[in-house]
Amino acid sequence: MRSIKSLTLDELAGQFKALGEPAYRAKQVIEWLYLKRTGRFDEMTNLPAGLREKLSAEFNERPLEVVRKTGSKDTTQKFLFRLRDGQLVETVLIPASPSLYGEVSDRRTICISSQVGCAYGCKFCASGLDGWKRNLDAGEIVDQLLRVEAESGERVNNIVFMGMGEPLANFDNLMRAIGIINAPWGTNIGARHITVSTSGLVPRIRDLADQPLQIRLAISLHGATDEVRNRIMPVNRKYPLAELLDACAYFRSRRKQKLTFEFILIEGVNDSLEQAAELARITKRTDAKVNVIPYNTVQGLPWVRPSEKVQDEFMAVLRQAGAVATLRREKGHDIAAACGQLRLQTLGNDPQGGGGEKPIADAPKLN
Ligand code: SF4
Repeated sequence: MRSIKSLTLDELAGQFKALGEPAYRAKQVIEWLYLKRTGRFDEMTNLPAGLREKLSAEFNERPLEVVRKTGSKDTTQKFLFRLRDGQLVETVLIPASPSLYGEVSDRRTICISSQVGCAYGCKFCASGLDGWKRNLDAGEIVDQLLRVEAESGERVNNIVFMGMGEPLANFDNLMRAIGIINAPWGTNIGARHITVSTSGLVPRIRDLADQPLQIRLAISLHGATDEVRNRIMPVNRKYPLAELLDACAYFRSRRKQKLTFEFILIEGVNDSLEQAAELARITKRTDAKVNVIPYNTVQGLPWVRPSEKVQDEFMAVLRQAGAVATLRREKGHDIAAACGQLRLQTLGNDPQGGGGEKPIADAPKLN
């Protein structure tokens, strides 16, 4: 059974026509979903009872179920949701300050998951540890936003697809969800307030660049040379750095906004001054900005955060070379440290998850 939140207004009008219902009923349903914020057909009181029954038979109306919630109004809040097939996904709400890009702003940012698990197996990431299970459909992606707003009482105004999964590997559902999130009849969040983060799926970066919406792009770079990226990001063997940077340049040529590189700093892996110099060169060449994020330890993984002295020296090289760079040291506020852990922690204790010890602590998760 399909989620009604996967459909656009026009598609729903078409469905209603097929059910022998007038098109204006679609607008009424959409108003319930995104204005009055109920997905329950029995609460849609301006619809005839017969139509509500037809809708119940045709569409899934069950919202995501909250399994766990951590944090409070003034801190990062994490939500663990159970999907209709029992799979778990995680969504994170980051309070108004600080912003993802280090600016002072009133951004209330949500970090949305696009897949259950991830197939890309980046060596530092909690989300890939359990493998890929399935793609989320557009309704499940949109519903993360609706449920977090309902649970928190906050209105989100900034979206980042940096939760569990590689968003560009679920391209069609991602774009459909973004269309609904961006639509005036949907949640009406501007495309410039939506960022898609990728580990580097080159063909899909080009596809994203060709979309008319001015969506932002963040690249999980984490290595400034093929040698380093190959070591920690298997995707680089398929799409090496030169191809990735060409795709970034293409994206940049189609957008007014700079793109962002995310760079987790890991001791002895990518924290050398040579890496910093190369990163500066790449950043300037692509007219990008870079967020440097000291690694947060994941239990069971061998990587370590460099000392603050090393972090500062790395940043000094970037800045001296004229790169636009921000060091994001704050623990807990950092979106990069936000996603991918709660699900694994719960899977470790949840009969549906199969049990076993799983990494739980401050796992970096960058798209
Ligand atoms: S960093 Fe992104 S692409 Fe890499 S394993 Fe984690 S979720 Fe997948």
